[in-house]
Formats: sequence, C-alpha cells, structure tokens
Amino acid sequence: MRIAVLSLAFLSATAMSLSSQTRPAPSVDPTVTAQGPRPLPGPVYETPGFTRAVANGTRTRTGAPGPKYWVQHPRYQIAATLDPIHNRVTGRETVVYVNHAPDALDRIAVHLRQNVFAPGVPRRQPVPITGGVTLSRVSLDGRALVLEPRPAAVPITAPPEQPPQPGQYVVDGTVMWIPLGTPLKSGDSLRLEVNWSYSPAPAPADGREGHDGHVYFQGYWYPEIAVYDDVDGWVADPYLLEAELYMDHADYDARLTVPRGWVVGATGTLMNPESVLSKAARDSVAVARRTGRVVRVLTPGPGAAGAFAASGPTATWHYVANDVRDFAWGSSDQYAWDQTRALIDSGRDTVNISSYFRLTAPAAAWRVGGARYTRDAIEQMSAYLWKYPWPQMSSMEGVLDGGGMEYPMMTLMQPWADTLSLAGDLMHETGHMWFPMQAGSNETRFPWMDEGFTQFDVAQGMKVLYGAPRRGGRPNDSEEGQRAGYTRAARAGQDHSLMVPGDEFPQDLYFTMYYNKTGQILAALRGLVGNDAFHRSFVAYGREWAGKHPEPYDFFNAMSAGTGRDLSWFFTTWFYHGWPLDQGVDSVIAVGGGDSTEIVICDMGLAPMPVPLAVTRSDGTVQRVDIPVDAWWANGGSRRARIRVATLPEITRVEIDPDQLFPDVRRENNVWKR
Ligand SMILES: [Zn+2]
Repeated sequence: MRIAVLSLAFLSATAMSLSSQTRPAPSVDPTVTAQGPRPLPGPVYETPGFTRAVANGTRTRTGAPGPKYWVQHPRYQIAATLDPIHNRVTGRETVVYVNHAPDALDRIAVHLRQNVFAPGVPRRQPVPITGGVTLSRVSLDGRALVLEPRPAAVPITAPPEQPPQPGQYVVDGTVMWIPLGTPLKSGDSLRLEVNWSYSPAPAPADGREGHDGHVYFQGYWYPEIAVYDDVDGWVADPYLLEAELYMDHADYDARLTVPRGWVVGATGTLMNPESVLSKAARDSVAVARRTGRVVRVLTPGPGAAGAFAASGPTATWHYVANDVRDFAWGSSDQYAWDQTRALIDSGRDTVNISSYFRLTAPAAAWRVGGARYTRDAIEQMSAYLWKYPWPQMSSMEGVLDGGGMEYPMMTLMQPWADTLSLAGDLMHETGHMWFPMQAGSNETRFPWMDEGFTQFDVAQGMKVLYGAPRRGGRPNDSEEGQRAGYTRAARAGQDHSLMVPGDEFPQDLYFTMYYNKTGQILAALRGLVGNDAFHRSFVAYGREWAGKHPEPYDFFNAMSAGTGRDLSWFFTTWFYHGWPLDQGVDSVIAVGGGDSTEIVICDMGLAPMPVPLAVTRSDGTVQRVDIPVDAWWANGGSRRARIRVATLPEITRVEIDPDQLFPDVRRENNVWKR
C-alpha cells in the first residue's frame, strides 16, 4: 500500500512540471487556504547500520532487542581529590573493559569532556577557558603509553597524517583514541589506567557542572570509555557543549577526597558513613529512612563541624554505584543537607532521598522542597512509568544559572525561590532517571528520545500533584504549556524535523522542538491509539531497553508492535518532517435529497491526521464521528476530506478535535457554527 501511494505522488509531481524538482512549501497561513499538493508521508527508513544489526540478530523489527543483543559494561575504580584552594580536581582511575562485542577491537575511544574548556577546541558556545584535561599517565595493561607527537602547526603541503602507533595515544579535542597493538578479541579484557587533573570551570561554565565559589559539581570529569555498540561500532562524537551524551552502563567505585567539613553527594551509595559523618548525622539519616520525615542532617555555619567525623584535614567519601551510565559528584562547605525517603512499588520498597542546598534567599524554595519534591518526583515517575531501580536519589542546588542537569541518581539545579518552579525542575531532572539513565539512548544524535520523553512524563507527574491547567511555576512543565510553545513556533513557520543530530540543530529551536514538540507528539500518539495502548507500549519500550541502547527505530517499532498498528505515516510525519497540523471546517452542506449533510474538512497544514468530530444538534445531542487518516491519501493526496451525517435534527455546531488530542496550530478554524 505504501508503494502505491508513493508512485501516485511521484506521478502527480512529474505531471506538474518536468523541470522543477522543488516547490515552495504549502503555506500554513489560512488566508492562502489549502493550495498545493498534499504531501504524503513515506515509510520510515532505517540506517544501514540498523538493518545490519537486524540481520545479525542484535535488533528486531518488533521493538525488542534481538536474541543476540550485547552491550559493553566497563568497571571503574576512581580516586579523586578536590583541592578548592588551588581549584583543581586530581584523579586516578582504573577501568576494566571486557569486550562483550563479537568483533575484535583495534582501538579504544575515551571521552575527555573537560577538554571542551581547552583553548582551540571546537564548541557551539563560548565558555571560560580552563586549559582542559592534563594527562600525567595513560597506561594499558600496565604499559605506559605516550602522547603521539604532533607538530603544533601543519603546513598544507605536509604529507597525510599518520595514524597513531601502538604504544601511543592521540587526543583530538574531547576524545582520546588509543590504538591497540593486538586487537581486543571478543571476551577478552583490557585494563586502562589514567591519571589526570583539571580546573573546574567557574559558573555558569557549560550550564551543566563546574563551580561557584565553594560549591563544586563534577560532571563529565573523568576519562570515560566511549560507547561501542551493535549498530555503529565506536560512537565517540565530540562534546561541543550543546547536545548531551551517549554512555554505557557501568559499575563505579569512587573514593572522593575533600577538605574536612565539606559534604559530598554523589551517584551511588555512601559506603563509609562512619568515617566521614558523626554519630549524630548518621542517626539523622537513619531517622529519615525509618520515619519518612524530612530530617536536617547538616546545617552550614558554626555548628556544622558536629555533623562530620573528627579526623585530619581531609576526608575521603567512598561511593559505589552499579549499572549506571555515568558518575557525578558535588561538594561544598556551604550546603545544608536534608534527608528523607520515597516509597515506591505500592509502599513495598524505599529509596533514600538526599538534597543539598545553600540557605540563601535565591534558593529559598529548596528549604521547603529540595528533599520533598525529589521524593515526589521519584514516587510519581515510579508510579507512571516503572519502579525506580536504584537505592538512592540526590538533588543539589547551585552552579547553574538556569534550569537543571541530570546525572545517574543525581540532579543539579539552579537556585529557585519559587516552590512550584523547583517542583517542576526536580520532576524534570529526576524524570531523566528513566530516559536516558535507564533506556540509554544516544542523546547526542537523538535528543528527543530523552528530553521529549521526559518532558511528556513531567507533565503527567505534575498534573497528578498540582492539577492542570494550573497557574504559576514553569509553563513548560504542563501539556498546555508544551503545546503553546510548539504551536507558536509552528505558526511562525519554524516547525522542524527531529531526526537531526543535536549539534546540527538550530540552537534557538532546540528546546521548543526536541522537548515540547516531542512531548506533543507523544500526546498526539496517545490521542491516536488511546491512553491504555499508548501507555502500555511506551512503558514496555522503556523497560525492554533499560541498561541498553535503543535507537529511534526501536521506539517506532515498539510503539507499532505494542499498539498493533502501522504507524509509519505518523512517525514519518512527526519525527522526520517539520509538518504542522492545521485542519479547519470547510463547509457543512445538505446534499442529495437533503437527508444527508456533508461535512468537508480542509487541511491547510502538512501533517495528515485523522479528524475526530463533534456534531452538535438543535436537540442538544452531540454525535461523535471520526474521519480516518486514510481520507487524506485519496487521489494520490487530498486536501479535503468529507463525511456524511444525518441532516436532522438540525446541526448547530461542528467541532474538529473537541478533546484537543492533537496539536492543531490554529484552533480558531476548527469550529463551524450555524
Ligand atoms: Zn532534560
């Protein structure tokens, strides 16, 4: 059927003109009305890599991982010291990397993302220059490697660059490549050791980490082995400050040394509370866990020393986290620390909640809600999606000048004085613990798979707790706000394909499209297939891919398989094109002998969608009828779709999409009144 539709579209295009291959896009301006041909959505084309993965049995076309699916899982041991006097983080790590791929690897890629702050490194935004990462030792299986010698400037007449030799490593911006003398065979392992240091960038840094005086947050701070996956092999896109990250799930054992009197929050579970916290502080944590109350563990100021174990000038906090795709930590001597717990799985399980914030006026909302809203978010997202899988969740205030940032079991956020805004921000960043922290998609290339899905989930959680529509807080934490943001841009002619890598996307549309448009696409899909089928399929997709690397095609296939429908037209329309939806009532006219009335719907946009109609009659009854989406396929692409209903009792009103399931960019033409 798709092929027939395509060939018809092709014929009509060639009939129009033999010379012109392009034409102005039909306007969404209703004053122009429905001019021009109806564009028809084609099938979803996989990348060759995905098609190969299906042939290899690591992927399927049902949205589930294939029987031969594999994923890498590095193990990190890290010891790091924060020296705030000299503003320096110094680390030493050992990574054990077992090759679970069937392929032999001839090299290893390692991210050095702090190099985005080095002079001369490409990036999409200006940042303070800190010098980037200093590598003092890189070794492989105990053998020290040397930096490949490179001339500072290469004349254009120079011979082609030689690849680095075994025994060397090369640093290319934010990525280090290490060639292997002997390829790493399937099932074999290597041990990478790196000693490194860097200066945390001053706030607002890259908007994701850095330091603000004595508040430090270390994100993207250690050498991290890039993802080698079943579809693309090595995926080591540079960190350019715009798009986010792609990471393997891994195990971390981290020992973090800070000045005594500085509290450390981190991904994972604190393993040595006795050696860093006083008995009083440990008791407070225990009370919070037992009672579920919000308990103040630490208050900054003269009495703060009483919360820490007495020892030397520094303290080493030992954190362990398994099956997480990153490790981050924050530290300060200015933080208050509130502790509580979340109840999940219908009260059968608990999650420890920690919140760290300054007692300042701009951060006033944190005193009220830092711990409470983090708990609420874990409980809401666990109820809407599935159970939070880790024992701990922490939120931190500071460093950022806008919004928040997610790390596994950790979030970092701007100071908020407004409680509802903090609740929304915490719901969003905590919401990321599902997408992408569990369903580990490639955020760099497909930001909509984490940001858009989270945006949608946040609206569900906030609606349960605070109602909708609601006043106050952040408009984009609700479906109404997300719709307003997306349709405003679409009306302005800025609708955009989402299948564009994050670092190539227009920066001014990044949020509106990846976040709000995707949120609206999920809402439209829910309207199309029904809430139960949507929710069941969406959750099944996420759970299926927890700890793995879903591609867009896995999501498309999972939603089609889960709902039992061919939705390729929907995915092509909404993800691959910048096609707005703008249906309007064209006419309501009695036909034939007058017994029937024909309702004609005109499509002035580009997105084909079914037309749910409410027909109100003079006796007050409301008839609900749907025009299926196929109506737009008629005659190789139609701009008008029609349906017949009984003329009597007299029709007084016709409304398109009365439940507002779909993001129609112009609702004022959706209603016809007698
Ligand atoms: Zn986000």
